[in-house]
Amino acid sequence: MRLLFIGPPGAGKGTQAQRVAERLGIPHVSTGEMFRAHVDAGTELGQKVDAIMRAGEYVPDAITVEMLKQRIAEPDAAGGFILDGFPRTAGQAVALDELLGAGGLDRVVVFEVDEEELVQRMLARGRADDTEETIRHRFKVYLDQTQPLLDLYDSRGLTIRVDGVGGVEEVTERILAALDPQ
Ligand code: AMP
Repeated sequence: MRLLFIGPPGAGKGTQAQRVAERLGIPHVSTGEMFRAHVDAGTELGQKVDAIMRAGEYVPDAITVEMLKQRIAEPDAAGGFILDGFPRTAGQAVALDELLGAGGLDRVVVFEVDEEELVQRMLARGRADDTEETIRHRFKVYLDQTQPLLDLYDSRGLTIRVDGVGGVEEVTERILAALDPQ
């Protein structure tokens, strides 16, 4: 199954993508985690994206698409995957369509969480790029650039909306139930 998890920053989609990927036996592909690994390892790519991430901006599409393309070409992704945090721009969505070809995505899981809940969750997470100013900026960038992608996936009939508020296990069960309605 080729799935995309999409939602505002702090909605818990990373945690849920990890858990659902384990349950389904497919890899969890997070471009944010991949970038953070590059930053931590001090690679050339990491040095390039560090300041962009700290500012809460998006890494340019060309860099992001190339990294994602290499990841989903790996053998463990042949049987499906959960994309978490990609695509985030219209350009990335077009690139993904090209990469996936005829089959495309099977489902798009959309996380719905109240804005105040989001800010509180992110402050509690304590990640290096999580200052309050950055959090608010990332939220605005999400609304401007990523939320519009939902229209595309809605029009293809792929979206499933999930209430992201609740216990971690409860939300995982909600997602699994929504993916497998029988
Ligand atoms: P995330 O862990 O998904 O919240 O991503 C953390 C940061 O990595 C984002 O705020 C961006 O700076 C960068 N990033 C991750 N995925 C993408 C993407 N698909 N396009 C552009 N930037 C990204």
